[in-house]
Amino acid sequence: MILLKNGDLIDGTGSAPRRADVLIEGTMIQDVGTLDHVPDAEVVDCQGLAICPGFIDVHSHGDLEALQHRDEKICQGVTTEVVGNCGFSLFPNLPLENLVPSFEIFKDREGRQWDDAESYFDDIEKQRSHTHLAALTGHSSLRAHVTGMRADKLEGATLRQAESVLTNCMEQGSIGLSTGLNEVPSSYGDLDELVKLCGIVRRYDGFYTSHLRDYKFHIVEAVEEALEIGRRTGVPVQLSHLQTVGRKNWDKMDKILDLVDRAVNDGVDVGIDAYPYLAGSCNLTQFLPVWALEGGTDALLERLTNVDTYRQIATETEENMSNDWEDILLCTVPGQGNLIGQTVRDIAESRKNVGVDTALDLLIESNGRLQVISFNQSEENLRKVLSHPRTAVITDGLVVEGKSHPRTFGTYPKFFGEYVRDKGWMALEEAVWKATGLPAQRFGLAGRGIAAAGNWADLVVFSPEKIGTHATYENPDLAPEGIEYVIVNGHWALRHGIPTEGLAGTALRHRA
Ligand SMILES: [Zn+2]
Repeated sequence: MILLKNGDLIDGTGSAPRRADVLIEGTMIQDVGTLDHVPDAEVVDCQGLAICPGFIDVHSHGDLEALQHRDEKICQGVTTEVVGNCGFSLFPNLPLENLVPSFEIFKDREGRQWDDAESYFDDIEKQRSHTHLAALTGHSSLRAHVTGMRADKLEGATLRQAESVLTNCMEQGSIGLSTGLNEVPSSYGDLDELVKLCGIVRRYDGFYTSHLRDYKFHIVEAVEEALEIGRRTGVPVQLSHLQTVGRKNWDKMDKILDLVDRAVNDGVDVGIDAYPYLAGSCNLTQFLPVWALEGGTDALLERLTNVDTYRQIATETEENMSNDWEDILLCTVPGQGNLIGQTVRDIAESRKNVGVDTALDLLIESNGRLQVISFNQSEENLRKVLSHPRTAVITDGLVVEGKSHPRTFGTYPKFFGEYVRDKGWMALEEAVWKATGLPAQRFGLAGRGIAAAGNWADLVVFSPEKIGTHATYENPDLAPEGIEYVIVNGHWALRHGIPTEGLAGTALRHRA
């Protein structure tokens, strides 16, 4: 037994902090209140510290990192992750060749394959994990499995195959479907296809998470498309990492949040998630027109060798830019590590070339494996999104070769330290709710997200005064400050800020 004594309990419901002790027995929270005489319990003094449920990161991209026992999420206080985001999941099994560069996020899988959701869950149980994992089925992965990187519509036999594979994954406990509609091959799916697939997800009481078809000039239409899928199928819709990209689109945020509120009023079940940073991260190919990526990386590189096609891709890429090349920072450049940390504009100037051509040349030189950080949004819009009552806080953070985005290491400490404590954007209990009770309720994670007797003992103990991060875009991989203890299913995962080998995370299979 573990007794957390003298702390301020912030229980994850949004209620104000209260003085309470927490008793853990086995994997569960036994009791909450004033608990004095508990023989045999290990007593931990939590004077001056907040005790709250473990953070639930519903958009983590930690599919592989969890299996590798990486500790950047547990060190932030994350005890549950939802993986398979933005259309990319490790199952159903992916072709080994002719993928687009965005699948590079899974390059460390080194040819391993997971046939279906069950084989992924089995692997988590066999290899163990710091955190609990629920898994979405990625639409790009599903399409890659069925028709590779082809741009054609799924219909007839291919549609039936996709439906059958998705049904199987849902039967096995996948929590829903994720799309990445501005990335190939998910982008090749139209509204009709998504409505059909989400109909299956709805039958299993699952969730639909949408990395939108556009976050720039057409974001309003993209949000309307996601909401329409909810209207037509009744599936709960999650708008992933909501933001409007580029100064020219910053004024669209009010309209988008208004659309969400109106859809909720009409009975559509809508949720939002956001990471607390102004910059995003992606492969540079996300800036290219989607036709340029049909057939995969080799086909793209081949197209870029033709002068006319290169010009066409350059023109369309430039037309669709909503920020500037000086806003695009390189973080993975295979073979040219010296360029990491420079902007595309810096390199363009040194090469005496224009930004878009420099970007495409760098893409060729790195064989398509060009990961960038892109400064996208305004702090005012970030405040509006994070403050919206339906927004959960996420990391969206994975580890890449070169420099990873600092969100991978510092999301929750930055949120609680900078935006909640220092800037006062919301009360601490509301912030905790956005990282715990809200995402648990949203994704049907029973017995988690609220610190109460009878629930699973997933807990974080941190100092509201000290919590923070020094992780920056230049120096991302720094451990957080102020997070003292993390407990997963009653086992120590972090003590005095140091991760343990507890590995008490479990596979969370979704059951209708
Ligand atoms: Zn995404």
